[in-house]
Amino acid sequence: MADPTSTSCLFCRIARGELASRSVYEDDELVVFHDIHPAAPVHLLIVPKLHIDSLISVEPEHQALLGKMLLLAPRVAQEQGAADGFRVVVNNGPGGGQEVFHLHIHVLGGPRPWRQMSIGR
Ligand code: AMP
Ligand code: ZN
Repeated sequence: MADPTSTSCLFCRIARGELASRSVYEDDELVVFHDIHPAAPVHLLIVPKLHIDSLISVEPEHQALLGKMLLLAPRVAQEQGAADGFRVVVNNGPGGGQEVFHLHIHVLGGPRPWRQMSIGR
């Protein structure tokens, strides 16, 4: 479901500024903040202000928003210190290891070692 104003959703609340985050970027459609339990020296979450549960529920109307999220990844990765590359991860649904059911892109980078994430948990 794409619900523009989910009152209880954690990332909707962060996007509205009701809950604190270590924000690194904001525009009219997206927020980017540090993951509270980083799995790598740089671990950012790119989050649309529009509530979308996951990629399972995206529609053609979200195409531009999804492209914008991916285009932002190299910029924020580099700005936050992932100088020599980064990884993007999107967990979708319980079977995909998703824990917060508001679409987000993980951006991971920085020197190894990294904590294992998203695989086998
Ligand atoms: P996922 O498993 O893909 O749904 O990932 C959710 C991510 O959100 C996890 O990496 C959590 O550490 C992160 N997270 C949960 N609560 C917060 C919060 N309040 N601020 C920042 N990141 C959070
Ligand atoms: Zn939400």
